[in-house]
Amino acid sequence: MVEDNLKRILKELPPEVKLVAVSKFHPSEDILAAYSAGQRRFGENRPQEFAAKAAALPSDIEWHFIGHLQTNKLKMVLPYASIVESIDSKRLLDAVEKWGGDHDKVIDVLLELHLGAEETKGGFTEEKIKDILSVGLSYPHVRFRGLMGMATNTDDISIVEADFARIEAFKKHLDERYNLPVFNELSIGMSHDWPIAVRHGATIVRIGTAIFGDRPKLGSL
Ligand SMILES: *Cc1c(COP(=O)(O)O)cnc(C)c1O
Repeated sequence: MVEDNLKRILKELPPEVKLVAVSKFHPSEDILAAYSAGQRRFGENRPQEFAAKAAALPSDIEWHFIGHLQTNKLKMVLPYASIVESIDSKRLLDAVEKWGGDHDKVIDVLLELHLGAEETKGGFTEEKIKDILSVGLSYPHVRFRGLMGMATNTDDISIVEADFARIEAFKKHLDERYNLPVFNELSIGMSHDWPIAVRHGATIVRIGTAIFGDRPKLGSL
């Protein structure tokens, strides 16, 4: 089933768009099923689960961390993550810079733009992102690779379109204003809205349910 789902999505996804298979809450066997079908890029959102899976699974997996990250959990995530997509506060960014300095590593990150209507969702305002990028040189151990965003969780396609159009335009504005060398990625689009995201310039889509099925409830793993 996982293999069929992957194949179906990859057939529709333009080849230049990177697929992150979001495996959070799903057991390692499901990840290995996708791995056997050729998938190498996976996403997780809980530090402990992320570290356990990354340590146990094949080392050529490219792990994306996509969840809220507390500064005291960096040591579980940064040794394994090829990119942290969910940098959502200055405090976290400063802590990642410090960890990178301490470990002589440069960490690839996306800055999360607060996009959806939900107050509960994380992310920076556009102003804060501009502030950070204008002092980008003060983060020698962080490589800013682009933006991440989550559209409003709604069936109203016009709202989702408007959210993605906003982050697409903001990305374009940043490209013109700051001319950052590797600020290339726009990570938008999940199971229910990724075709819309692709029309708005997504370079990364993060798809969980449409590949692995519904997530098992907490505690039943
Ligand atoms: C869970 C999650 C996804 C995947 O969601 P699906 O609806 O299952 O595709 C994508 N992005 C983030 C940040 C997530 O937490």
